[in-house]
Amino acid sequence: MNDIISFDEIDEHGSQTVRGAYDVPPAELDRDEAAGGARVEIQATVAKGDLEGEYVADGTAVVTADLECSRCVEPYPFANTSGFHVRFRPRLEVSEENEEIEITDKEELDVEFYTERTIPLREFALEQVQLAIPMKPLCDENCLGLCPTCGAVRSREKCSCENSIVDERWGALQGIREELSKKKDV
Ligand SMILES: [Zn+2]
Ligand SMILES: [Zn+2]
Repeated sequence: MNDIISFDEIDEHGSQTVRGAYDVPPAELDRDEAAGGARVEIQATVAKGDLEGEYVADGTAVVTADLECSRCVEPYPFANTSGFHVRFRPRLEVSEENEEIEITDKEELDVEFYTERTIPLREFALEQVQLAIPMKPLCDENCLGLCPTCGAVRSREKCSCENSIVDERWGALQGIREELSKKKDV
């Protein structure tokens, strides 16, 4: 299994196809919602791009994980298949005056700058995992979350609480408070 992207190899032999499957431990993901880690299966074809020193990777990544729903806090199986189109460009020497090069062109978003001419596929795959896992994972778009009064998982158990609209608002406010306290921790 070829799991190193090598630009020298591409220069010499033309486009390169790489594939790999990796288990990503929770520590590497650093996401509370993915405490069990994730798995990624990736395949990519990398070829020379149009620009000097540019290489283009096209492929797909299949990411699976047990995520924790951000609304009801229940674990659920997550699976995502996504295609990518990433351009690698050589990192140019940056003078001190314009240390911050702003990337404004929307098209530039899928550009990665390289200094090494080999890229471990696992490293690249890990980036795709980070992109695939949603900021706020939901077990279901319509997940009802927790009862703001008793904390029951609403999609699973029916509690007898009478939640008025005021309670709902309180629940939302509580969510905001949690978010704020999380930010403070950072
Ligand atoms: Zn949920
Ligand atoms: Zn309740």
